Amino acid sequence: MITSTGNNLAVNGGPKMAENKDIHDGGCMCGAVRYRIQGPFSYSAHCHCRSCQRAVGAGFVTYTAVPSDRLEIRKGEMAIYNSSSGVRRGYCRDCGTSLLYAAEGWDDPAIMTATLDDPSVATPSSNAYTADKLTWVMLDPALKEYRHFP
Ligand SMILES: [Zn+2]
Ligand SMILES: [Zn+2]
Repeated sequence: MITSTGNNLAVNGGPKMAENKDIHDGGCMCGAVRYRIQGPFSYSAHCHCRSCQRAVGAGFVTYTAVPSDRLEIRKGEMAIYNSSSGVRRGYCRDCGTSLLYAAEGWDDPAIMTATLDDPSVATPSSNAYTADKLTWVMLDPALKEYRHFP
């Protein structure tokens, strides 16, 4: 369950995570915010939209999503920026690391895959919003491709 209070995002409770099964920790660069997700993941994908490019300052962003009751903030709290209507982007107030994308009406908040302690646990299966893809970004032809929203 994700609750938003003012500028902070807190993820509380939810069903107890199963012991040790498919559990992955991650966090920001400075360590002030730590989270845990439990698989199986809803999806993992690259997003090439302009909003993601600018939010993270990179050519594209790789996401891994889980149902909200399998995401737990274990240390600190995320600051929230509403990048567009109904969209909340979570980041560390101290070091600025982008951590989370959550959209109203979606039950699957997505963490930035590269903030996992072991990002290799998630394998992206698609590229989204390739209409905005930068010319110097090369796509893996084996992945599904969506011009806009999948
Ligand atoms: Zn930080
Ligand atoms: Zn995007």
